[in-house]
Amino acid sequence: EQNITKVLKNLNILDLNPAYCTGSQWASITDRKTLDSYSPADGNKIAGIQTATEADYEEVLKKAEQAFLYWRSLPAPKRGEIVRQFGDALRENKEDLGTLVSYEMGKSLQEGLGEVQEMIDICDFAVGLSRQLYGLTMHSERPNHRMYEQWHPMGIVGIISAFNFPVAVWSWNTALALVCGNVCVWKPSSKTPLCAVACQHIIAKVLQANDLPEGICSLIIGNAVGDLMNNDKRIPLISFTGSTRIGRIVSSAVAGRFGQTILELGGNNAIIISKDADLDMSIIGAVFGAVGTAGQRCTSTRRLIIQEDIYDDFKEKLVKAYGQLRIGNPLDQHNHVGPLIDTAAVDMYNLAIQKGISEGAKFVVEGGVITNEPSGCYVKPCVAEVENRYEIVQEETFAPILYLIKYKTLEEAIELQNGVPQGLSSAIMTLNLREAELFLSAAGSDCGIANVNIGTSGAEIGGAFGGEKETGGGRESGSDAWKGYMRRQTNTINYSNTLPLAQGIKFDL
Ligand code: NAD
Repeated sequence: EQNITKVLKNLNILDLNPAYCTGSQWASITDRKTLDSYSPADGNKIAGIQTATEADYEEVLKKAEQAFLYWRSLPAPKRGEIVRQFGDALRENKEDLGTLVSYEMGKSLQEGLGEVQEMIDICDFAVGLSRQLYGLTMHSERPNHRMYEQWHPMGIVGIISAFNFPVAVWSWNTALALVCGNVCVWKPSSKTPLCAVACQHIIAKVLQANDLPEGICSLIIGNAVGDLMNNDKRIPLISFTGSTRIGRIVSSAVAGRFGQTILELGGNNAIIISKDADLDMSIIGAVFGAVGTAGQRCTSTRRLIIQEDIYDDFKEKLVKAYGQLRIGNPLDQHNHVGPLIDTAAVDMYNLAIQKGISEGAKFVVEGGVITNEPSGCYVKPCVAEVENRYEIVQEETFAPILYLIKYKTLEEAIELQNGVPQGLSSAIMTLNLREAELFLSAAGSDCGIANVNIGTSGAEIGGAFGGEKETGGGRESGSDAWKGYMRRQTNTINYSNTLPLAQGIKFDL
């Protein structure tokens, strides 16, 4: 407890935190509504935070609009230098921020620290990118003409994030959006607002040390803010990370005003375990994928599709591995599995188990709530044999429930793997080259992420991250995901002394 108090102090978390910050200036505490944040680790209230009013929102947007005029004309490598300093500030705060992530969200300390490392990594990536925002040149069909394309910033990027990656998702978006010349307005999950306050303090210091205007990176708290952002024409791009249900609302509202979205929604990820798999490796990949972050990753492993010849053997090994799992306080590094985010998530877990049983699921590792923990948020990771077609198997339950499905041929396994509405992450465990290549081919996995001999969870920032179908189609992070944060402009320059029209069209006056 002493350690947590110190961490909160280091990160500038107060008893009652302000509703918004426009860069380095925080709102004053007045009589706004308050949201309290409780730790799922021990059930204690950590601190409160005020929620923004519509007038607060207007203030934030006004500052962001002004700041964009300045920020867009700063050379991209200079913007990269600010992101470099941000990365350094994260390095200094890694231990504290990682601990707060673990305490407020409930993931293990190792995963909390890993999340901050991901923030540092994306900053490094973005710094390099700030000198590589390349456009193409093309050959014009007209003589003495030059054609090329360039990439310009879009304006205000609205970032709406989920509770389960309370800091990394913001940084993925912010680091890229900033080097691309955009300004950011962040609405974090109301389940993890203090992680957001801590992040804002870290970036605020950097902005202030560089004498930058208010409005480049703003934070604004409160559920009502989401809808204001969806419907606000001043925000050309909303990057939304969260459930498919809310993503659908965001997507249609933003499309209705011809805004753009990057949608990072739910997953229903499977690993195919071939009879040619390295079974020991597969067990580790499957168990970590299913129980890591207590099954609350978008890339968590929810289904194992196992070849019938090794099914019983693999099941036995899996049940044994589940028997060794230690469930408990995520800050205690001996534990493998921490709590769910809140008791509402525990209710969803219980409902999913009941629904599974009513549809015919046969549990080989029983679930249940752990009753002697004060927060009421700890549950047992469980495993059930199911049919892929069960309604509950087709849904994403954000909890450590793992489904086992049997297959005969690889074609059948791929059909099962693709046979869900979501399309985020997928994997095959096999040492057979033909199987691996088929899985990665156009006739293979339909997901945004497809791995061989690695589980479904734990992506690196270097690749573009995101998924297909009901996962929303967005891409963030590495590769050329930066293009999603910029507008493309095609330029044609005529340096001849005539005006030839394209396609040879004649027009004489
Ligand atoms: P959620 O959909 O409940 O909430 C996400 C965010 O949306 C929160 O900030 C919430 O306050 C906000 N919100 C709620 N109503 C809104 C509205 N009408 N308009 C705009 N914003 C609104 O999701 P969650 O429970 O926080 O997170 C879990 C979900 O997120 C899972 O489905 C998970 O798979 C998904 N997720 C996906 C990715 C990915 O990259 N694909 C990453 C992390 C989480």
